[in-house]
Amino acid sequence: MNSRRKFLQNTLFGSIAAGNAAFWAKTAEQFDHSAKDALPAVIATWGPNVKATAAAWQVLSTGGRALDAVEAGVRVPEADPADTSVGYGGLPDRDGNVTLDACIMDEFGNAGSVSFLQHIMHPISVARRVMEKTPHVMLVGEGALQFALNEGFKKENLLTDNARKAWEDWKVKSEYKPQINVERHDTIGMIALDKQQRIAGACTTSGLAFKMHGRVGDSPVIGAGMFADNEVGGAAATGLGELVLRTLGSFLVVEEMRRGAHPQKAVETAVKRIASKYPEQTNENQVGFIAMDKKGRHGAFGIHPGFNYVLYQRGENKVFEAASLKSR
Ligand code: ASP
Repeated sequence: MNSRRKFLQNTLFGSIAAGNAAFWAKTAEQFDHSAKDALPAVIATWGPNVKATAAAWQVLSTGGRALDAVEAGVRVPEADPADTSVGYGGLPDRDGNVTLDACIMDEFGNAGSVSFLQHIMHPISVARRVMEKTPHVMLVGEGALQFALNEGFKKENLLTDNARKAWEDWKVKSEYKPQINVERHDTIGMIALDKQQRIAGACTTSGLAFKMHGRVGDSPVIGAGMFADNEVGGAAATGLGELVLRTLGSFLVVEEMRRGAHPQKAVETAVKRIASKYPEQTNENQVGFIAMDKKGRHGAFGIHPGFNYVLYQRGENKVFEAASLKSR
């Protein structure tokens, strides 16, 4: 059993044992969002990212800035060799190169992004430097690497023995086929709302395993993999990036919230847009969105069951199963 499924099973059973089953069954809309104690809050894609939300919470609970929280949060899986979809330990492309994508946005609407970046363990921090130290939004490939090295980041080998082994096993058939909810889709997208009601977001990934060399997904594209607008809220995506890129999913979620939609309704709209435009690919592939608005209300929705997320709010760090368009 892969570690994601094992994790889910343990968490689910743990939760039921602790009497939380009813809580799990709620959709995000049914949570009690009495505004008073809803801030600060942080939400992230995928259950195993509880350590990431805990790192973000440390910043938020002590009055820190949402931007610092999301950076600190997503750096956790970036440095974790056991996480095969983000940073160090990420599965390589089909030629054996680990290539990373990340983006970040602050409460002023500033944005920074890197894509097709190799050899740097923390692409999110490079993305932040792009945002803060250059007149640009996005740097890619060799240029992004040069910038990172000039900024003092260390060049490292990010291909772990496990990832190399997985790639060697994959090469036997060399069949490129993303699968729903397995380790190949574990991008972390994170949205934080701090005590001063500032919103920030981050997204980081090694992208789809065994992708073509040079492939860039949705994760580093502002408005696709993540979008945050301090007037409204933020959203992030995970899953088959091509579907999110074609629909600019996170931007759509934020715009729906701007029009007054609850974050849960907003993420449902983005998933339904994908399903109506690309019905065949929808059958085969997973996409999940998370969202949080300025009131600390959140939403999460997937195409298929199996998408889960972490919410740290009111001092509790909890994993929830997202509702989905399709049933089992
Ligand atoms: N969205 C990412 C990509 O397409 C994959 C993921 O969510 O893991 O690169």
